[in-house]
Amino acid sequence: MNQHLRSQSIPFIDVGAQRRRLGNSIEDAIARVLAHCQFINGPEVTQLEADLAKFCGARHVVTCASGTDALLMVLMAKGVGRGDAVICPTFTFCATAEVVALTGATPVLVDVDAATFNMDVESLRRGVATARRRGLKPRAVIPVDLFGQSADQDAIGVIAQAEGLFVLDDAAQAFGASYKGRRLGTFGLATATSFFPAKPLGCFGDGGAIFTDDAELAAILRSIRVHGQGSDKYDNVRFGLTARLDTVQAAILIEKLKIFDDEIAARNKVAARYARGLGNIVTVPHVVAGCTSTWAQYTIRLPEGVDRDAFAAALKAQGVPTAIYYPRSIHQQAAYRHFPVADGGLPVSERLSADVIALPMHAYLDEATQDRVIAAVRDAIST
Ligand SMILES: *Cc1c(COP(=O)(O)O)cnc(C)c1O
Repeated sequence: MNQHLRSQSIPFIDVGAQRRRLGNSIEDAIARVLAHCQFINGPEVTQLEADLAKFCGARHVVTCASGTDALLMVLMAKGVGRGDAVICPTFTFCATAEVVALTGATPVLVDVDAATFNMDVESLRRGVATARRRGLKPRAVIPVDLFGQSADQDAIGVIAQAEGLFVLDDAAQAFGASYKGRRLGTFGLATATSFFPAKPLGCFGDGGAIFTDDAELAAILRSIRVHGQGSDKYDNVRFGLTARLDTVQAAILIEKLKIFDDEIAARNKVAARYARGLGNIVTVPHVVAGCTSTWAQYTIRLPEGVDRDAFAAALKAQGVPTAIYYPRSIHQQAAYRHFPVADGGLPVSERLSADVIALPMHAYLDEATQDRVIAAVRDAIST
């Protein structure tokens, strides 16, 4: 590609546009932290936890160092370990199952629904049976709210209750989305999210949070966050982690949370325009009635017979970047191959891994630029 065309490349996520919109508010927030020097557990951390609780309606919010730590800390707090099974969807980022393996428990991988990409509840049922047949004790289920849309919280909740499982919702991609009028962060025993820069609400480094209505669990999580601390610093009552959110990141998130609702609305406009421009040539994402999405990714499925590599190359030649989430499901990766999968296999996840591709999506994608993406997709499909 010549230099002229390369300079017209569209960013996959435009972090710069958001920085411009936020103006000096981020610099000012960071400057306040530099002035008070409470880099760990500063007042901004407490403030952010209160702001996040108000935003989503959860009673308790415990911020932490990453989305992965958020998931791991809940499993640690509940004493999940060897001999236990935790049911996870296989079509997700590895961290969902990784945290289960780190505790010594066994992730049991189940399939997803072809339309929503989220956990298939019949496969969940089969996964619980698979775990029992192998002599494992099913303890928990981790639904993932993939690409920004909530999993089927009601149906999963019913199975979890019947089987005696607790629900740990992995909302790393979907904080800000709602299910039947309630925001994520208020379902199951606890919800984990991530503030990795590329997530819909991201900081300028790693960060995460846990949401729960259970006061006792929140207290244990606060202890685990600081090496299992008890009533004082040198009284350690359990094993924990160094898993705090830096004060600087909290200060940044306080500012970003103020414009987050606006950004979610902008992302939804972009998604609606994609659906109108592309709905008749590719399979566009399906948002379930009663759900909203934060559009962490705008993932389409290519029609049968379209070569995905050639499609991506054709878009790249037009300056349009794409990404594949996920080219392999968890059960297809070396570290996870030996873990049990639900009876009936994982055929939907395997098909999705072969035909999904994500298009540029962010709150600052203007109509002219988006039209270029739409034209490039239509061109690549019809040639
Ligand atoms: C990003 C992500 C995580 C992990 O979050 P980190 O902050 O990167 O540790 C976990 N689960 C899912 C589904 C994710 O997308």
